[in-house]
Amino acid sequence: MTSIEFIHDEKDELKALDIISWCPFCTQRAHLKVTGKKKMEAVRNYIGSSMLTQDLPFEASEREFIRSGYCPGCMKRIMGVEVSKNIKYVRNERR
Ligand SMILES: [Zn+2]
Repeated sequence: MTSIEFIHDEKDELKALDIISWCPFCTQRAHLKVTGKKKMEAVRNYIGSSMLTQDLPFEASEREFIRSGYCPGCMKRIMGVEVSKNIKYVRNERR
């Protein structure tokens, strides 16, 4: 449900990861930008592995976003959790 874009700088080094999701409930698009070597490495190790999101070095709502792709509004409404401000909507895009 989530996909990942790799963002490189002008020297072709990995600068950030953008985790993008179409919310399974409301179809709004949301994303979580990941910077910092440790976090980026953790996400790359997570992709395609049997690793659990609970082992990722992220806040609970960020891990939930990576796992389920719920947008901030639906996560708050359904799960009643405080949602990390790092999870943002991608404006004006609906499936
Ligand atoms: Zn939603």
